[in-house]
Amino acid sequence: MDRISIKAARDAAAVGKHACIQGWVRTRRDSKAGFSFLEINDGSSLGNLQVIAPAELSNYESEVKRLGSGCSVTIEGELKESGGKGQATELLASAVQVHGWADAEEYPLQKKRHTFEKLREWAHLRPRTNTFGAVTRVRNCVTRSIHNFFQEEGFLNIHTPIITASDCEGAGQMFRVSTLDPQNLPKKDGHVDYALDFFGKPTYLTVSGQLEGEIFACAMGKIYTFGPTFRAENSNTSRHLAEFWMVEPEMAFYDLFDNMTLAERFLKRIFSDVMEDCLEDMQFFDEHIDSTTIATLSQIMASDFVRLPYTEAIEILESCGEKFEYPVKWGIDLQSEHERYLTEQKFKGPVILYDYPRAIKPFYMRVNDDGRTVRAMDVLVPKVGEIIGGSQREERLDVLTERMIEQHLNPADYWWYLELRKYGTVPHSGFGLGLERVVQFITGMANIRDVIPFPRTPGNAEF
Ligand code: ATP
Ligand code: MN
Repeated sequence: MDRISIKAARDAAAVGKHACIQGWVRTRRDSKAGFSFLEINDGSSLGNLQVIAPAELSNYESEVKRLGSGCSVTIEGELKESGGKGQATELLASAVQVHGWADAEEYPLQKKRHTFEKLREWAHLRPRTNTFGAVTRVRNCVTRSIHNFFQEEGFLNIHTPIITASDCEGAGQMFRVSTLDPQNLPKKDGHVDYALDFFGKPTYLTVSGQLEGEIFACAMGKIYTFGPTFRAENSNTSRHLAEFWMVEPEMAFYDLFDNMTLAERFLKRIFSDVMEDCLEDMQFFDEHIDSTTIATLSQIMASDFVRLPYTEAIEILESCGEKFEYPVKWGIDLQSEHERYLTEQKFKGPVILYDYPRAIKPFYMRVNDDGRTVRAMDVLVPKVGEIIGGSQREERLDVLTERMIEQHLNPADYWWYLELRKYGTVPHSGFGLGLERVVQFITGMANIRDVIPFPRTPGNAEF
């Protein structure tokens, strides 16, 4: 007998099939007419499959009538057209096999509603809830869309290292990787002697694959990395994780505006793939989580992103009459309240801010002719704020070296990065997109901890 997913079984085209489905019981209801309704979910779709379990089943009294939320089953039967509303099909069971019971008194998800905070304590069970099932499918769709987009555009996927010795952006924000015994650290001249550590020098978990990505872009043309990144910043916000997934395309011969165009097309592609492939899940988010999410995505796909130089953004913020907690003046790093004003009040949609002050941006961003700004760009969206940060990279050896010194970095530590500028340098650009920030934006989930399977945040790494 054909084993099919519940998603396939719910399709009207499945009517008439004899099939076998496998999953977990969501509910059981006994009819007075002497049979039971079971709602089964297997993760393949938000909607459950309704199963009619007739009293003739050999284990009807002994097992079927004891089934409840959380029990696992294999059910064979025939798919019929359903008279019920909201479902095209139902399964008339000819055999029900129970794999595992779940004690109704103890099973935590027995009760219908739990807060997302509470569900975080049950990271092993929360994928069985409607919301996390939907998040999981959307996250998967975004991941597929990212690969499809870049592969179709001729980008090569590069696996950059997770353990790194360069700490360019991460000063003070990196997790150390070490095999030294913390109870018994080798010392030299009063300091820990990392020469005796595994790699013979201090090493860390990567905060970005960009610098290594540039190496490959400067040979292969267009590349992207997609991997986990780690930041030990102690920010307990709804938009920061200590471990998150980042997509970083890097393109030779792209200037900042090519970079913006790519970023915009890329985001629109993700949104349209999700609307197409996960419509049922999106309707769920729209109904239960954030009633603006579908309208927002549709509007964004149909309009152009605003492109706004930082200096003009500052002028807008200074003269808008809004009372901000952090005062605005040229040179500041924008706070989330400023970003939200621009995307939610002023432009009502995504804004690409660019040409930021050189003092607040990393050494590798290309210095503009004005000498005081760099070719940086951030893509800001309503509610979430920054989802993409990128730049045109500094391709001039002398300027790059000068910028390193200005930021108290030792050029000798980056000899390989500098050599990319010494041998056949090219203008090039790239950006980083935080996977969880996009999923958060798309679904409308308020907290980033609820869009990643196992969130790592300060004080939390239970699962
Ligand atoms: P923010 O200002 O929001 O802290 P950032 O400027 O430090 O972000 P970048 O270094 O530009 O971030 O990283 C590129 C992208 O990675 C960001 O645009 C964002 O989407 C994502 N990102 C950065 N830090 C985090 C984090 N701690 N948790 C989740 N996503 C993150
Ligand atoms: Mn950034």
